[in-house]
Amino acid sequence: MKSIRLVLLDLDGTLYIDNQVIEGAVDAVSRLRQQGYILRFLTNTTTRSQAELYQQLANMGFSLEMNELMSAPVTAVLELRALQQQFERELRIWPVVAQAIEQDFAEFDHDEITPDFIVLGDIGDAWNVVLINQLFTAMHKGAKLIALHKNRFWQTQSHLKVDIGFYIAGLEYVTGQTAQIMGKPSSSFFNRVLADVDVAPDQVVLVGDDLDSDVGGAQRHGMGGILVKTGKFREQYLEQSTIKPDGILISIVELPEFLATHYS
Ligand SMILES: [Mg+2]
Repeated sequence: MKSIRLVLLDLDGTLYIDNQVIEGAVDAVSRLRQQGYILRFLTNTTTRSQAELYQQLANMGFSLEMNELMSAPVTAVLELRALQQQFERELRIWPVVAQAIEQDFAEFDHDEITPDFIVLGDIGDAWNVVLINQLFTAMHKGAKLIALHKNRFWQTQSHLKVDIGFYIAGLEYVTGQTAQIMGKPSSSFFNRVLADVDVAPDQVVLVGDDLDSDVGGAQRHGMGGILVKTGKFREQYLEQSTIKPDGILISIVELPEFLATHYS
């Protein structure tokens, strides 16, 4: 049996649902620590800073370190640091992101005219033709595009709304460039998380409620993918899918026992 060193925990739908902690989740995380696993908490949220996410989890009772939190913006920062080393100079970036996460990118020089990289995230209703043309011009001058995700649309309380995938696809089309996507399940995201901990994919399991993105994404990257039957889990969707999880758990509460019996 393979031995697991790193456990990746999805947040929404796995540890909590709409700010409501899943019963027993706090204890389960503590037990995983007692078992000696390295933990990382994963989320694709792009509208909250690492500090805000940390505070949210701490308020729910989870004990963790700030550096254990891996959101798409956080992995984008890690990616930019690695690029900065390759460039051997200060990187100039243009973060087009929610105000709340601007601070996560504060360590890099800000440049809206000739950036090395544009970092694109959710900016709500701030999109307009002037901005799109500024982005196009900067990319035309050589800026590379890093996108925090490339979702097509999202569900609001009442209806579906166009997501930033619309703008990314458009910018890719008019510049001929392919954006680097940072959110899970992109390989850029998993590569950064694994490099940060320095483990090989076969020493890692990812636990989440999203069969395609969490379980399928993990397995495509050579990691174990474990599905929890909480959050967005739907029995019928699992039955119809070709993705076969490495484990199916009622909730995160079963994870410590499952890992102890299957991976040690
Ligand atoms: Mg989830």
